[in-house]
Amino acid sequence: MVNDDWQQQLQFDQQHIWHPYTSMIDPLPCYHVESAAGCELKLSSGEQLVDGMSSWWAAIHGYNHSRLNQAAHQQIDRMSHVMFGGLTHQPAVNMVQQLTQLTPAGMDRVFIADSGSVSVEVAIKMSLQYWVSRQRPEKNQLLTIRGGYHGDTFAAMSVCDPVNGMHHLFKHALRNQLFAEKPKLTFWDDWQPEQESELRHWFERYHQQLAAVVVEPIVQGAGGMRMYHPNYLKQLRLLCDQYEVLLIVDEIATGFGRTGKLFACEHADITADIMCVGKALTSGYMTLAATITNQHVAETVSHANSGGALMHGPTFMGNPLACAVAAESLTMINEGHWRQQVATIEQQLQHDLLSLAEHPAVKDARVLGAIGVLEMEQSIDVAAAQKKFIAHGVWIRPFGRLLYIMPPYTISVAQLKQLTLAMADYVSSLKPS
Ligand code: PMP
Repeated sequence: MVNDDWQQQLQFDQQHIWHPYTSMIDPLPCYHVESAAGCELKLSSGEQLVDGMSSWWAAIHGYNHSRLNQAAHQQIDRMSHVMFGGLTHQPAVNMVQQLTQLTPAGMDRVFIADSGSVSVEVAIKMSLQYWVSRQRPEKNQLLTIRGGYHGDTFAAMSVCDPVNGMHHLFKHALRNQLFAEKPKLTFWDDWQPEQESELRHWFERYHQQLAAVVVEPIVQGAGGMRMYHPNYLKQLRLLCDQYEVLLIVDEIATGFGRTGKLFACEHADITADIMCVGKALTSGYMTLAATITNQHVAETVSHANSGGALMHGPTFMGNPLACAVAAESLTMINEGHWRQQVATIEQQLQHDLLSLAEHPAVKDARVLGAIGVLEMEQSIDVAAAQKKFIAHGVWIRPFGRLLYIMPPYTISVAQLKQLTLAMADYVSSLKPS
């Protein structure tokens, strides 16, 4: 029998169900959500919350969207899943057609993966197989920049920040990779090439063993919500070309308009050799990601020297239900309203958040596209802060010293104001450190 008592469910949950990065002995409080529509979540306890998180960058068109619902309903009545080995279907073809209309020219060979982390694993595998095919198997190491985050699986963890990353516990079990310093210049600084000259050293010294560089373009998300200079990325592209190293960009958080450009790489006017997308691909409806490359890499990886095939094939690859929703979400992106929506959010965030940097408890305030960040001087007490936010009618989940929002693109001016007022109120409740 279904138990519809939400308080009992919460109790059961606390005892039996793991949540992201959460203790089973002393879990953080958890809220029971009944439904979500537009840009609001409805809790079972009755509160209606404006959503500042887009369910971790994903729900760009908002919840319970009629077009996305319709795509899901239509697909589930045909089939929700069939294996992708030896079979294909309209949702996968539609999704990839929509996707490759958005990706940079030439980036049109697509591996459909089942989560962001898996798409990073596949990208890494592609780069390793690429060099095996070219009979240079010694090129099998990765270079990345400190402060990054690329997922929770093992190869992805190996390129997360080695110190502050959430994965330092697994150090002994991870492949040692190479870590360049964090970019020194922010997105908004004047470009001074000498500030970032350290980057070249890694290529000069290690290019013979480097398969690829893996980076989050422009915005380092879970590793600190840092936004770095586009010329840094440009320089990386040039060095990769000069020293024959593949460039893998992880656009899982930044893709589909979040930073004000369709993909963050556009800020630097570069194209990667391999890119990963996920999160907003289905507008948060279900898990789906993709690893995208060009004809040259795809064909090299498929060479007989490296076994003749890319060695990856998950059970739920190309899931028709997820692809059908993704195809519709991408169609909406292709319609282009996101540009105006993100620009409007950016202006309002700049107006409402940047001046909060003057408060002594705030170290920095920054806004890029539909991302607003307040970096505090001190760690935030997540449980206490969330209690306050719920009382304010907003859903914001801080981490570390970061209070940040990345709302759905469909948020109204009034809803966004409610989010930024809650953030301002939280800041003003803090004592100077
Ligand atoms: N890369 C980046 C930049 C991410 O932000 C995330 C998710 N937080 C991932 C990879 C991993 O994606 P997933 O959680 O879907 O495995």
